[in-house]
Amino acid sequence: MSNIKDKVILITGASSGIGEATARFLAEKGAHVVLGARRTERLEALAEEIQQSGGVAEYQSLDVTRLEQMQSIVDFTLSKFKRVDVIVNNAGVMPLSKLESLKIDEWNQMIDVNIRGVLHGIAAVLPVMKEQGSGQIINLASIGAYSVTPTAAVYCATKYAVRAITEGLRQEVGNDIRVNLLSPGVTESELADHISDVEAKQFMVDYRRNAIPAKTIAGAIAYAIDQPDYVDVNEMIIRPTTKV
Ligand code: NDP
Repeated sequence: MSNIKDKVILITGASSGIGEATARFLAEKGAHVVLGARRTERLEALAEEIQQSGGVAEYQSLDVTRLEQMQSIVDFTLSKFKRVDVIVNNAGVMPLSKLESLKIDEWNQMIDVNIRGVLHGIAAVLPVMKEQGSGQIINLASIGAYSVTPTAAVYCATKYAVRAITEGLRQEVGNDIRVNLLSPGVTESELADHISDVEAKQFMVDYRRNAIPAKTIAGAIAYAIDQPDYVDVNEMIIRPTTKV
């Protein structure tokens, strides 16, 4: 029996890449998905596509760096479906550059989206899930949470942080609420499109050559949700066989 069907699943960063693929995949499995991101025209198109295929999808504009917007999308989810069974804290940015380039605004953006965004997601759903007596929090880290690559010091630092936060959360609430860390290697998405540093962008062209489809990561997220309630898939690392 499916442990995905009819679950209410909130996905941050659902307007492209892994979040979009995850929304589509989980909706196909019968989940009620709530999509959040800043590009609402994309969310609207995706929600329509899911609905036209017989699925259930809602969306609301979300900037994960704003706690009140995260709380608002959780309230919106509750108003539509009365529960939040799962949050996928997926939204992330990766404007890579060497530290010596001093792209301080981009460092702060990574800290705000990749760390604060995840913490805001946790803060917004935790009281709801505690009240429900059940729930699941899935955080997207990266292979960059395990080792540091050139130009990725700050990005990797944010992902090491997500890994630490996720493990700490699991230790605290793991009896009632399942907590999962999902760490992709290079995966097809728009993640590298926003790199402003010319050298780092060029390096990524070759580095990302063998990217796996975003649907692969969606499948792994679905696997973690689909386990029986007494099983917690603590951590998954999924990368192309070409190593990165
Ligand atoms: P994409 O760039 O395709 O997607 C990133 C998503 O995050 C978009 O939907 C974007 O939506 C959203 N986002 C960015 N900033 C914000 C914000 N402030 N508030 C709300 N949403 C935001 O990349 P991926 O799909 O690859 O990224 C998904 C996750 O996977 C990230 O956490 C990334 O670090 C991680 N990851 C990806 C890997 C890869 O190779 N693709 C490898 C390892 C980890 P919008 O701009 O509309 O707000």
